[in-house]
Amino acid sequence: MQQNKEIDQFDIPLAKRTHLNNSNSISIKKLLIFSPFLFLFFSFVALQLIRNTEPRPSSNFNFQNEKNLDHRILGHLPYNEIPKEKLVLIEPNIEVHIDMRDSLLMMRNEAKRDGIYLVFLSGYRSINLQNDIFYSLKSIRNQEAAERARVSAPPGYSEHSTGFAIDLGDATQRETDFETEFENTDAFRWLKKNAAKFHFKLSFDKNNKYIDYEPWHWRYEGSIDALKIFETSNREP
Ligand SMILES: [Zn+2]
Repeated sequence: MQQNKEIDQFDIPLAKRTHLNNSNSISIKKLLIFSPFLFLFFSFVALQLIRNTEPRPSSNFNFQNEKNLDHRILGHLPYNEIPKEKLVLIEPNIEVHIDMRDSLLMMRNEAKRDGIYLVFLSGYRSINLQNDIFYSLKSIRNQEAAERARVSAPPGYSEHSTGFAIDLGDATQRETDFETEFENTDAFRWLKKNAAKFHFKLSFDKNNKYIDYEPWHWRYEGSIDALKIFETSNREP
């Protein structure tokens, strides 16, 4: 009996040890089997936490990406050069898109009837000419590209290369040509009131973030081709 007891006492710790050993090896096995799932689970939880705690840079990022999709450079949109066969000379040194000619000439005539004398300062400009304007003027004025771009488009990014843009002046106040002061002329006041009738629109108003206000620069939107060309620009907030 005592011997049995001794055996029992001896057995118990053995059994316990075996049991403990067994349970250890089982939980390690379990751990090994479930570790990939656990890893996935915790990764998922961590990802959710990161997503929820990250404030809004992600939405800003998307917004910036969207802005970049229109391929703007220094705030200017890219424009193709008009095919030569669509260009017409309306007076010495002034060529425009054939679709815009009639409307532009009608607008000038109507203005004249109201005692306003519009001058055509610049119509179509080739990408080569725009290249000279942008780079030569930039260096003369010792301005960096971004500063220069506020008043002149980089080559390939000017509305003038489409043939649908025209710079206008007031024949009675030539000192305001290409100047912000043009907005104080009778010609500008007349244009603000009447240009839309002839499908002309001011391209760069005072709200433009990148490009300085250009009261003399108007673009034609009276044809589907022109509207397609300026679609991106018109989508701006
Ligand atoms: Zn212009």
